[in-house]
Amino acid sequence: MNYRHAFHAGNFADVLKHAVLALCLEHFKRKDKPFAVIDTHAGIGAYDLTSDAARRSPEWQAGIGRVMAKDRPADVERVLAPLLRVICAMNAGKDLNAYPGSPEVSARLIRPQDRIHLCELHEADSKTLDKRYALNARVKVEQRDGYRALKAMLPPREKRGLVLIDPPFESRDEFVRLAEAAMKGLERWPTGTFIFWRPMKDLWSLDRFDEGLAEWLVTERDVEPAAILRADMWVRDLESEGKLAGAGLVIINPPHTLEADLLVLMPWLCDVLKQGEGAGWRLDGIVTEEMAAGWAG
Ligand code: SAM
Repeated sequence: MNYRHAFHAGNFADVLKHAVLALCLEHFKRKDKPFAVIDTHAGIGAYDLTSDAARRSPEWQAGIGRVMAKDRPADVERVLAPLLRVICAMNAGKDLNAYPGSPEVSARLIRPQDRIHLCELHEADSKTLDKRYALNARVKVEQRDGYRALKAMLPPREKRGLVLIDPPFESRDEFVRLAEAAMKGLERWPTGTFIFWRPMKDLWSLDRFDEGLAEWLVTERDVEPAAILRADMWVRDLESEGKLAGAGLVIINPPHTLEADLLVLMPWLCDVLKQGEGAGWRLDGIVTEEMAAGWAG
């Protein structure tokens, strides 16, 4: 396990992922009933942008750094507001020194009646996480394999909420594990909101994951295509060499407001975060008419 999120915290992929997470949490808060957040690959919770890791790999500067420095139109400000509230609460002065991980986005946005369950397999990172939330009775931290833990955690007793699965994609079989977890998780909790993060590196495996999951949902589980949403962004040509060029999310059972919010956010975000020729974004439901016809025939 070599992956350390501290080298990537606040990059373009984090901004999109955390904006989506924050929007989903705000949506759940429209009802008083409690909800649960299950974060299977939690990281350390929050990141110091002045740390050695962040200095050696300042990806945040081309990510959240640009977003914070830019004038934001009112509609974009509205969509980003939940995430920006968290970031502002963590940074007292005008410099950006701290950036939230997914656990901190959740911990700062949930209410007293809501609950967070975090899994982090890396021993030291899990200890850091445990220390951060030791006094927070609404947050449970476990050092265990998040994929395996899903079975025991689903469905949550609240019957409302979300699962975020955000693996490091270090091992060759990560897409296979993600697909298995997706299907098992959705079998146990068909009405939960599931957010799957995936990099746009191995596009063949990415397509197999997206289309395989969509086909299974539509043909085996009778899921309406409207319950599937894909939000991807790439900051330069996906064929380009070097660091990660693109990433995004597949969201199952998204809040009904999410697609419209992302239609506002994604073009602006892509324009602000682009790093060269060939940047782009897509927001769609994966399932095309041709696909549906093929599955039916
Ligand atoms: N979700 C975090 C966020 O948005 O701030 C970032 C998570 S980072 C991409 C992936 C994390 O998963 C790493 O901290 C890594 O140590 C951890 N990890 C790797 N394999 C795991 C597994 N099987 N179960 C739980 N955690 C795992």
